[in-house]
Amino acid sequence: MPRPTAAAIVQQRAQRLLDAEEQGLRRVLRELHETEHDERAADGAAFGQHLADAASDMFEREVDLGLIEDYTAGLREVDAARRRLADGTYGVCEHCHRPIGASRLDAVPTARRCRTCAGDLEQTSARMHAWPRAERSGLIAGEFMATDDGVGDDDPGPDNAEDLAVTVHPL
Ligand SMILES: [Zn+2]
Repeated sequence: MPRPTAAAIVQQRAQRLLDAEEQGLRRVLRELHETEHDERAADGAAFGQHLADAASDMFEREVDLGLIEDYTAGLREVDAARRRLADGTYGVCEHCHRPIGASRLDAVPTARRCRTCAGDLEQTSARMHAWPRAERSGLIAGEFMATDDGVGDDDPGPDNAEDLAVTVHPL
């Protein structure tokens, strides 16, 4: 029985990782779509509720919609990675054309670039991408609530915007 080549082993491993990635993304997307649907249905009954509740609902909606967008983009990345597997360019950095490290591909099976070329600008994984998005939405909701409060008893000031801003890249 012929032993599988190293390339075949790498390919099989990549397939498995991409399958797992896709399953995870689809599961989360299903849940997000259900939540989103419930929230949309609840909107009709939202009249008269406290502004703070409305703001937090809005915040949750916005986070969910952002996450749906991000995870959907993640699915497109899985598709693109499968095409690269098929045409033999998987695991090759599209920028410097050197092989992408196995540890990086394990962590981010859809990676298009090696760690060096990716730097900290690229966020190939929806997992990594999702949280900064949530943080940005948090900033928007925070502003909304601060201005709608009406009275100036709590200082809307610079509050924690700067603290949140520095946590935006958790890579
Ligand atoms: Zn590179």
